[in-house]
Amino acid sequence: MNFAEKPKPVAYCAGCNMPASIEVVGTSCRYGDCNGTYKGVCAADEWMRCAACDGTGKIGTAFCRTCHGSGWTRLLP
Ligand SMILES: [Zn+2]
Ligand SMILES: [Zn+2]
Repeated sequence: MNFAEKPKPVAYCAGCNMPASIEVVGTSCRYGDCNGTYKGVCAADEWMRCAACDGTGKIGTAFCRTCHGSGWTRLLP
């Protein structure tokens, strides 16, 4: 069985860990009340496949809230 994994995010919010695209690096997060800044990801292994949705970004037909639909969760220090 081969899951169709999504590519790992290239950026994330330092405040809420929301995965983001490279274009928003250096700008402020507008997700909810978060005032974090988006940062680029340096190490490829900073991400692990989301356990809640198994890397698909969806649970059934619903958007996975654990990984914000990216299929990846960030490894916290
Ligand atoms: Zn944020
Ligand atoms: Zn997920």
